[in-house]
Amino acid sequence: MLLDVRDLHVEFHTRDGVAKAVNGVNYQVDAGETLAVLGESGSGKSVTAQAVMGILDMPPGRITGGEVLFQGRDLLKLKEEERRKVRGAEMAMIFQDALSALNPVLSVGDQLGEMFTVHRGMSRKDARARAVELMDRVRIPAAKERVRQYPHQFSGGMRQRIMIAMALALEPKLIIADEPTTALDVTVQAQVMELLSELQREYHMGLILITHDLGVVADVADRIAVMYAGRIVESAPVHDIYKAPAHPYTRGLLDSIPRLDQKGQELYAIKGLPPSLLRIPPGCAFHPRCPLARDVCTTDEPPLYEIEGRPDRGSACHFWRECLHG
Ligand code: SF4
Ligand code: MG
Repeated sequence: MLLDVRDLHVEFHTRDGVAKAVNGVNYQVDAGETLAVLGESGSGKSVTAQAVMGILDMPPGRITGGEVLFQGRDLLKLKEEERRKVRGAEMAMIFQDALSALNPVLSVGDQLGEMFTVHRGMSRKDARARAVELMDRVRIPAAKERVRQYPHQFSGGMRQRIMIAMALALEPKLIIADEPTTALDVTVQAQVMELLSELQREYHMGLILITHDLGVVADVADRIAVMYAGRIVESAPVHDIYKAPAHPYTRGLLDSIPRLDQKGQELYAIKGLPPSLLRIPPGCAFHPRCPLARDVCTTDEPPLYEIEGRPDRGSACHFWRECLHG
């Protein structure tokens, strides 16, 4: 097991009270595996990832419980300096907005090269050669010339490739990609996702792919964890989710993906909005929006039930059977 997140809790202290952003999240990622973490904005998916990366330790955010086991070591117990080493070399993150993640006044070659001079003690010349290699690797045309250019001189898709190259530079064991293609248009999205997935397989890395878009992950994820109000409400291998979701929220997300064979039909939309993390509804947090909700849902918080005796499938719905077979 590469990464094992156990019972993670994160809170944010705001002027209006304590926002419970992550409320007991468990997930695992193996080497060579892609886990898609799916949810609307405010579901806690990014915050969970930031806690794993160790970039959440500043107020107002606070990790209030749980473990983040990376190759068996609890990262939450490491000193900041050790933590930084893990973050630099063993896990890397790719963000949605490459333009603000990259340094605007350094050429991409210098930024990529820095990974090797700083972390590997290479000479500038060797580091530059590695930067060109990496740019080739992520299929940026004319890498030898473009290595001198600045981030704003690249298109959105090309900048996202540069982000991927930065993440790959030290050959980390785990990459966390937070909405890596959301800012791109659809064709470019598919190309970048394909590239990421291909490199992930080649390097045999674990990949956590955070997205609000179930349509993006179908071809690349092995497993999906669906988050709602800071909890995982469904977790399963990707084909099971598409075939028969076991949680009404997942079903709602699936029904709201546009499909080519249903052109012209009106798309389903889950009614209402995700709850404020300052006031998570009691019982099942999804009950105000759920078409299957009944009385017990307003009082009893559902645990993650094992589905049909399969330890690799879970649903936090009292009525998962109805959802699965309905
Ligand atoms: Fe809906 Fe109740 Fe299941 Fe929650 S527990 S998802 S409210 S049916
Ligand atoms: Mg986010």
